[in-house]
Amino acid sequence: MEKFLPIAYLQNRFLPFEAANVSIATHALHYGTGAFGGMRGLPDPQNPNQILLFRLDRHCQRLSASAKLLQYHLPASKIQETIIDFVQKNKPSTSFYIRPFVYNSGLGVSPRLHNIEKDFLIYGLEMADYLPPGGVSCRISSWYRQEDRSLPLRGKISAAYITSSLAKTEAVESGFDESILMNTQGKVSEASGMNIFIVRNNTLITPGFEQDILEGITRDSVLAIARNLGITIQERPVDRSELLIADEVFLCGTAAKIAPVKRIENYELPTHRPITTVLREKLIAITENRDEQYQDWIFKVPIH
Ligand code: PMP
Repeated sequence: MEKFLPIAYLQNRFLPFEAANVSIATHALHYGTGAFGGMRGLPDPQNPNQILLFRLDRHCQRLSASAKLLQYHLPASKIQETIIDFVQKNKPSTSFYIRPFVYNSGLGVSPRLHNIEKDFLIYGLEMADYLPPGGVSCRISSWYRQEDRSLPLRGKISAAYITSSLAKTEAVESGFDESILMNTQGKVSEASGMNIFIVRNNTLITPGFEQDILEGITRDSVLAIARNLGITIQERPVDRSELLIADEVFLCGTAAKIAPVKRIENYELPTHRPITTVLREKLIAITENRDEQYQDWIFKVPIH
């Protein structure tokens, strides 16, 4: 059962989570006319008087861009201020996840983005590991990742998550932990809520933005860390067969962090994962404020 943070933000005010409710006729509930963000925070293990938020600026920029795709003008600075306020009001004492959401809050039928009220809300929940840290098994989904020409994939649009939901349930109900989706070109795109990387011959490879992926902030962080470690990187299309013979495969996202893949369909992957391990440990050290090199990725919120 989820443990929600006690204070939520809805319609420009903070209120108890239980009291933060919307009407059953809310447009976004019916048409998926919303977009969300998702970021992690944790109390600083070195200083109990501050909360660490990972790449707050990037998360706010992406949500502002998603809002723009919904014809909602919401500056990243406004999102950032509100998130800081939200964290200060909640004072979380364990690792947590913040879910900011922009949506058509107006009521009634007729799918549209114009002439309808919008809102920006936030809630949070406590969150430990999202996927088994020892390695996940993946099914290749029978559902395909959407194309940018029918759904704006640069935003985290709610409606897109029907495909993620179909894929995840298909995978879990057939005995796997996660699903990997191909795009309509038959190339590897991403997992249900994570980007994907493979390693072949010491090269770190990930599908590029033209492969209908979400512009993941963890993906961006992994690429920067790998570059700084001198690891060879390729952003390019990945075939299904490359997944099956890769030396290492991992999924990455805010909730999952870096999750090694141990099996894809009926193909076992090697358990020796030197590049995944080094990237995973580095990313965790950065988020826990144990790494001097990436201080600008950590936003510190003082709490008293
Ligand atoms: N792809 C999808 C479909 C996602 O939902 C997510 C999670 N936000 C990601 C990739 C990873 O993105 P991020 O690293 O920004 O969390």
